[in-house]
Formats: sequence, C-alpha cells, structure tokens
Amino acid sequence: MSNAGQNYIDVLKKCKKALADAGRKEDDATLIAVSKTKPIEMLKEVYDAGCRDFGENKVQEIMDKYPKLPSDIRWHMIGHLQTNKVKYIVDKVYMIHSVDSFKLAAEISKEAVKKNVTVKILIEVNVAGEESKFGTDTKGCVELIESIKDLPNIEICGLMTIAPYVENSEENRPYFVILRELMVDIMKNKDYNIRVGALSMGMTGDYLVALSEGATYVRVGTGIFGERNYNI
Ligand SMILES: *Cc1c(COP(=O)(O)O)cnc(C)c1O
Repeated sequence: MSNAGQNYIDVLKKCKKALADAGRKEDDATLIAVSKTKPIEMLKEVYDAGCRDFGENKVQEIMDKYPKLPSDIRWHMIGHLQTNKVKYIVDKVYMIHSVDSFKLAAEISKEAVKKNVTVKILIEVNVAGEESKFGTDTKGCVELIESIKDLPNIEICGLMTIAPYVENSEENRPYFVILRELMVDIMKNKDYNIRVGALSMGMTGDYLVALSEGATYVRVGTGIFGERNYNI
C-alpha cells in the first residue's frame, strides 16, 4: 500500500475547508486525482478512498487503464489532445479539459456524433501567456467558443487553465481571477448556451488559492500520488 488513499482523503478535507472559508458549498468543486504515470494499484487505492474522478494526459494511458478499473470512474482528459487520437477516447472520457482549436473541437464533435455520445469540453486558456503551454489567449477563447458553439454533440462547460509553476501560490491568484472573470463575461452571452460555467484550475501547488477564486475542478497529482518518475 502507498499513501495515496490517505493523501486523497487529506487533500479532499483541505478542499472542503477552502470551499467553506470562501463561503462556497462543499459540492461546488470536484477534486480530480491526476494519475498520469501511476500504476493501476495506486489508482485503486484512491478509488477505494472514495475518488471517482481521475485525470490523465495521454490517450494511450486512458485506454490502458480504462478497462482495468470500475466503470463508475469519470475520466478527465487534461492533456494536449491530437485530433487523430480523439476517436479512441471520445466515448470513454467524462470531460475533455484541453480544447484549444476549432480543428480539435470539430473532430471531437464528428467522433461524438459517430458514437452517439455528447462530450463535455472545456476551453484551455493560457492566461499567463507562457510560450511552453497550449491554450488560447483570452480573446481567442471567445472567438473559439463563437466558432464551435453550434457543433453537434459537444457541450461547452467552461474554461481550463494551467497556471505557471511558482514558489508562492499567491502569485497565481491573478490568473485564476482572470479566468473567472472571463467565464463571467462569456456566460453573459446567452447565445453561447453555456449552462455550467465550470472552471478547471489549480494543481498541487495552488489548488487552495484556485478554490478561493472559484475553481469548480482542481487537478491534483503529486499531492495525492507523490512525485512522478518519467524515466521508468
Ligand atoms: C500533471 C498535471 C496536473 C497535476 O499536477 P501536480 O502538480 O502534480 O498536481 C494538473 N493539470 C494538468 C493539466 C497536468 O498535466
């Protein structure tokens, strides 16, 4: 046994406290356990601790893990997604957090129609403008929503961002505020038909700050599963 199950419980407790402190309800946000690179046994431990939302960033890894774990898991695709791989996961994932182009959204829509499913998506916004990151800028985000809003079988649920890596999590607060305000702006346009206004923001280093700024999904990997080793 690893500590992952207990870590999940501890992180969940901190999330609930952060929500309460911000005057939000306990179920206003969902903790996603980011399990990339981690073995099935560890995911099972976290599942047994009560987690039903898991995040992965590679199509192959979702396909490997999906049949080996209970079917009530909600799989979140949080990594960059290539259009040619959409078909493998469109009927397996609960939500795709990383849509940043018309081409990708159109492919998701096309494959979703084929498989007769509706896919929840978020638009990834690179709020800090980091060159190393995927995502639209804030203006591009609105244009993208405008261009994909009528595509069949996709439901635009909200926005996602990956904030910079920082020592002090408070440094990322302004970015979380930008994403929240952008969501508020976009929601004003009823034409976009976004009912949820989901905000996927906050990782191990900054999820408590993100929750205090309105996150509805936080994506915690290291804080639950420990450091990742990409060399094995
Ligand atoms: C890996 C990853 C996370 C989790 O990062 P930690 O710092 O380990 O919590 C969250 N979001 C995305 C998009 C990731 O790729």
